Order: sequence, then C-alpha cells, then structure tokens
Amino acid sequence: MEEVEEIVIVGAGVSGLATALGLHRKGIRSLVLESSDSLRAAGFAILTWPNAWRALDALGVGDLLRRDHIRLERHVIKSATTGATMSELPLTGQDMEHETRCLKRNLLLQALVKDLPPGCIRYSSKIVSIEKAGNLKLLHLADGSTIKTKVLVGCDGLNSVVANWLGFRQPTFSGRFACRGLIEDPQNPIMKRHIMEYFLGEGFRFGFSPCNDETLCWFFTWSPSNRDMKFT
Ligand SMILES: Cc1cc2nc3c(=O)[nH]c(=O)nc-3n(C[C@H](O)[C@H](O)[C@H](O)COP(=O)(O)OP(=O)(O)OC[C@H]3O[C@@H](n4cnc5c(N)ncnc54)[C@H](O)[C@@H]3O)c2cc1C
Repeated sequence: MEEVEEIVIVGAGVSGLATALGLHRKGIRSLVLESSDSLRAAGFAILTWPNAWRALDALGVGDLLRRDHIRLERHVIKSATTGATMSELPLTGQDMEHETRCLKRNLLLQALVKDLPPGCIRYSSKIVSIEKAGNLKLLHLADGSTIKTKVLVGCDGLNSVVANWLGFRQPTFSGRFACRGLIEDPQNPIMKRHIMEYFLGEGFRFGFSPCNDETLCWFFTWSPSNRDMKFT
C-alpha cells in the first residue's frame, strides 16, 4: 500500500531533530528520514549563544543540557605573537541574557531525540530524488521505495537533495578550513571558564573553550594555500 505522510523531515541532524521535537511538543506528528543507519552523534562540540538557549528552552531541553555544560564567563581574544589582549567580553550578567556554553554534540543530539515518539525517526532512509505528485511530494528512497508527503522539510545538510530540488544555489567554499577536537581529563579540572581565541596572522586562528569541568573543546582555522587544496 502506498505510504502517505503529513510531514516528512529529511535529515536527523541538529536542525531535523529540533524541527521534529518542536512539532511533537505542539502535538504534531512528523516522520524524520535519515540516510545513516543510526543517530550520527559523532563530532565534538558547538558553541551556543543566547539565541540557541532560547530555542533549546522553547524545545524543553535547555535545563537538561545546562546540567552537563558550564556557563562560560568571558570571551577573550589575544594576539598569539605578542600575547596582548585584543578584546575581552564578559558573558555573565544579572540574568541569562548572555548565556553561552560549549555543547558536546552527542549530548545535544541525544537531548533532542530523547522525547521523540517511537518510530519518529526512520534510519537507513536516504532520499535520492523528489518529484511533485499533485498537491503532494513523491520521495524516492535509495532502497527503491517511495513515500508521499503533504509537507516536506529539508534538513539534510550541506549537499541537500531538498534544496537542490527547490533550485537553491550549490554551496560555495567559504575559503576557510577548520579542525576541532575534545580533550577529556577528569584528573585535572578546568579552572577558567573562558572562550580563548588567539590570532596568529595570515588568517590562522586557534582557540579553546571548556564544555564542563573535565572537557575542553579546541579548534584551529586557516585560509588554505594552494598546496592544502591539493589534499581536499
Ligand atoms: C557527524 C557530524 C559531526 C559534526 N560535528 C560538529 C562539531 O564537532 N562542531 C560543530 O560546530 N559542528 C559539527 N557538525 C556540524 C553541525 O552539527 C551542523 O553543520 C549544523 O548543526 C547544521 O546541522 P544540520 O542539521 O542542518 O545539518 P547536518 O548536521 O549536516 O545534518 C544533516 C543530516 O541529514 C542526513 N542526510 C543528508 N542527506 C540525506 C538524504 N539525502 N536523505 C536522508 N538523510 C540525509 C545526514 O546524514 C545528517 O544526519 C557536525 C555535523 C555532522 C553531520
């Protein structure tokens, strides 16, 4: 029998899961189709600023995530060559106005998934093409099956099949590379609750920020040379 859904969300990343949870909180059912065979909870951490916290509170997961992530107190930018402080911004105040935390990506995804109803996410479901079918959209999956839906929400990331079908422009290269990672060290609690950034010149910047008392997220970013580009 032909499957017809009210709302299909393509992609179970941060945006797809947040959309599904927001709809669920309003009592609206949706189906999330994810190409991977399980939640892609890999990755490291994401700096989240006040707007993100307003959204996470609206979704009902803010306090759960606050338990595992410290509130950052200052954002400090320094020159890596001279050590001079170029800028220092306080992130604390009387209220939560400047609330900033560095969220571990796996905990963010798990928090968004936790309250979704069973069957809301369907894994191993890669959308390969989309076509119009009257007032509905007909989705073709990689396994040869099809699903019709009244509403289609594209949350399928950088090379979005949905965005491509809608005729959006292809993504363009920003001109920057970035690497990031996490250091976990329960033996040596982190003392400073600061986002630290160091500028080295010629587009090279590095920094770090604690997620909690024992986890530090680090990153560096640069404008690639022609030699770097050969490795991409
Ligand atoms: C594995 C992973 C690790 C990351 N780690 C970090 C990090 O440490 N720090 C950071 O700042 N950012 C990280 N990011 C990026 C960040 O999470 C996202 O770029 C940002 O949150 C935007 O999220 P999104 O939901 O729009 O897209 P994405 O996070 O890219 O999610 C898109 C989802 O759609 C699925 N998908 C794609 N195409 C299809 C299709 N045709 N059919 C069905 N499903 C499809 C993908 O498998 C993916 O799960 C990571 C992203 C991923 C995917």
